[in-house]
Amino acid sequence: MRETCTFCRIIDGVEHGAFVYEDELVVAFLDINQASPGHTLIVPRLHVAAWWELPDAEAAAVARAAKPIMQAMRQVLEPDGINLVQNNGRAAGQVIFHVHMHVIPRWQGDRRFGRPPAYADRQTLDERAAQLRAALDRIRHA
Ligand code: AMP
Ligand code: ZN
Repeated sequence: MRETCTFCRIIDGVEHGAFVYEDELVVAFLDINQASPGHTLIVPRLHVAAWWELPDAEAAAVARAAKPIMQAMRQVLEPDGINLVQNNGRAAGQVIFHVHMHVIPRWQGDRRFGRPPAYADRQTLDERAAQLRAALDRIRHA
């Protein structure tokens, strides 16, 4: 599974990811299709498809990572709001069957939901990720 799963391949360094955050249990990288600028995915290192299969330690680690990531987004991107979105199963909109949490910055009136997200090139993603990573480092070491 680790060889064929896109997110396992990113976690294992086989495919490129614009990483924002890493700890023992989870990583976070920018979504290749940015629903809004800064759209990030928090992904457990463990490969399971859905949240109902996720061990408590990983579930807690996703929630723990969400807070500093949101704080970094607020510092760097100054959104008016942030969505946490988590899809399980095709019927719920899941397309990558390695469990993950979307963190989506929102701006007043952006009308992001229901719109196709914008593909972002690697350089844009890497620059955005570097800004968020730098803010996260400051937050975690404050
Ligand atoms: P979901 O619909 O919750 O399964 O979301 C899967 C997300 O993974 C989508 O928003 C995709 O844009 C994103 N995605 C797919 N491939 C990659 C990739 N190689 N790097 C980053 N994000 C990806
Ligand atoms: Zn996987």
